Amino acid sequence: AKSTGKNHYELYHTDMHQDESKQMLMEIQLRKALERKEFHLTYQPIVDASTGMISGMEALLRWNNDELGNVLPERFIPLAEETGLIIPISEWVISQACVDVKNIHLNGYANMQVSINISALHFNQESFVKSVEAILFTTNVNPRAVEFELTESMIMPNAIETIHKLVKLKKLGLKLSVDDFGTGYSSLSYLNRFPLDTLKIDKSFISKIGRYQDDTSIEEAIITIAHRLHLKVIAEGVESKKQLNFLKREKCDLIQGYYITRPIPLEELIDFLGIWDKE
Ligand code: C2E
Ligand code: CA
Ligand code: CA
Ligand code: CA
Repeated sequence: AKSTGKNHYELYHTDMHQDESKQMLMEIQLRKALERKEFHLTYQPIVDASTGMISGMEALLRWNNDELGNVLPERFIPLAEETGLIIPISEWVISQACVDVKNIHLNGYANMQVSINISALHFNQESFVKSVEAILFTTNVNPRAVEFELTESMIMPNAIETIHKLVKLKKLGLKLSVDDFGTGYSSLSYLNRFPLDTLKIDKSFISKIGRYQDDTSIEEAIITIAHRLHLKVIAEGVESKKQLNFLKREKCDLIQGYYITRPIPLEELIDFLGIWDKE
């Protein structure tokens, strides 16, 4: 028994050691990633459910590193948040997305919007609004073409301070959406207190549509509440015709998911827009 115990300990110990050194390697690489230009943005189109036109796109960050290969955002974003590296990364994301949406406008799609995922740590900085203002000024983008995706957990704490911040962002002309709706706080009271434009139903709800038992009461309720509060509704993670038809029937405003396309680089998106227009 004693020796197994020891082996277990050693096994556990090496695993832990490997995990730690992996994290350390990732952190070392992450510190150099911006200056080495290892990040790029991919874009996933957002389709207007009633007209079938592409009205927007979500910017999704990608990291390709020589030693680590392609690292998923789910792995490096938490590390970037822990180390504070997310702040310059987030500023880079916002700037690049603004430059890219301007480029899309110049390609003849004047009404395209870009949705940008905002990091909690960045949002909570006192200087957040100032840094956004600086980016809008430098890139000279039309702020009405830019939407910030915030999560419920970001907008719930310090509600008063948060409202002030959101009001300032609205005054800059930006649009605001709640991402991953339904997965965070159960309170709905913030929805009509905060100056929001859009509510994004989390893909975990969408993936249930057309599977197992056909209970879609939660999805239907979310859409109804959002519309009562004059918010637009986006469904993310739409993967099937069945889901699309359900969402159209329920008057969901906007659709995003693999059923349309996976996230793609800007050049591919421009081609995609051309093909989509002709269909
Ligand atoms: P999210 O904001 O909820 O983004 C949606 C995720 O779902 C993306 O994963 C997207 O590629 C994926 N997705 C899109 N359509 C489908 C579908 O039909 N089925 C399924 N199963 N998945 C779909 P991704 O790109 O790996 O990003 C993961 C998360 O990382 C994002 O979740 C977001 O929280 C974060 N993230 C990504 N880019 C950024 C960024 O630029 N800044 C910040 N702060 N966070 C980011
Ligand atoms: Ca998002
Ligand atoms: Ca989401
Ligand atoms: Ca998510």
